[in-house]
Amino acid sequence: MTALPSKPTPRPGVLDIAAYVPGTQDVTGRNRVHRLASNETPLGPSPAAIAAVKASADHLQLYPDGSATMLRTAIAAQFGLNADRIVCGAGSDELLNLLAQAYIEPGDEAIYTEHGFLIYRIAILGTGGIPVVAPETDLTASVDAILAAVTPKTKLVFLANPNNPTGTYLPFSEVRRLHSGLPGHVLLVLDAAYAEYVRHNDYDSGIELVATSDNVVMTRTFSKIHGLAALRLGWLYGPADVVDAINRIRGPFNVGAPAIAAGAAAIADQTFVDTAVAHNEEWLPWVTRALEQLGLTVTPSAGNFVLVHFPDADGKRAADADRFLLDRGIILRRVAAYGLPNALRMTIGDEEANRDTVEALRAFLDTET
Ligand SMILES: *Cc1c(COP(=O)(O)O)cnc(C)c1O
Repeated sequence: MTALPSKPTPRPGVLDIAAYVPGTQDVTGRNRVHRLASNETPLGPSPAAIAAVKASADHLQLYPDGSATMLRTAIAAQFGLNADRIVCGAGSDELLNLLAQAYIEPGDEAIYTEHGFLIYRIAILGTGGIPVVAPETDLTASVDAILAAVTPKTKLVFLANPNNPTGTYLPFSEVRRLHSGLPGHVLLVLDAAYAEYVRHNDYDSGIELVATSDNVVMTRTFSKIHGLAALRLGWLYGPADVVDAINRIRGPFNVGAPAIAAGAAAIADQTFVDTAVAHNEEWLPWVTRALEQLGLTVTPSAGNFVLVHFPDADGKRAADADRFLLDRGIILRRVAAYGLPNALRMTIGDEEANRDTVEALRAFLDTET
């Protein structure tokens, strides 16, 4: 008989998790800081969402509607979906974790891509599953590599489209090819956190693929273009069976009333979303070109952020640049944990933040060469 441990022991996999390290929030002792580390919108939330949160403050003693009907109905109306096939969560992070929990058993494999969003690895390990990393080509997910990684143990594939932190995306024809190549019992999770920002005719967030298949789920978030990251709110659209499974394991009140009210107001405020898209359409190319003119390499991005590469491979330049910018109150994101030690990720900010960051990087490159 094996000896029992002397203290509570987490399940296999849990202690293999490197806890997610959020972007730096603050630089102390400064009154003006440009926060460009977490892909937050520079435009704040929709005024309608702010009003909805304020109105909800008078009723905080009440449990929220556990099925978030008002929010699911508003989302369904906006996208022409069946509200019964939507589940809301405390951020899409919660939904990604619930999907892993529901579909991955200890010892099962789940696939994500080389520079894919790190929450996937955490979600897989948290269930006792085995993360399988599919190599990327040119910092872009490769359908062939993902399909080559599938084994009889594969239960789930996470694909961020566009991906964070690379900003690259797969055209919808490639997503379809991926889906066609997967066995029917493998769940394909399309994380479309940045879908609203994408301006490419060959892109689709996956709504139609979800509607026409039994093994595809799309997740969305209110944290990015809607500017509601503080509230923790996301949603998924999936097959009825998947929705049923997630509804059985989620907390009965997993989304708070202020978040439900704000989300319903935000999703209906198309003018606000259009303004945010227009802002990004102006400043994403501007930032990309300005950084390239400094001699830096920028991965073409479909999101509201860019991945900026510094010349040396060991990451010293990127780390030095990060410190140089932090000293000037500009917070970008180190992405060494994503296998990108020589790069920094920069969120598209307001005009002042974008211009200040380019100027600071110009000064950095001048002084350090
Ligand atoms: C920001 C982000 C999310 C959103 O997470 P929330 O939990 O909804 O805030 C999901 N996926 C990716 C790839 C992201 O970058």
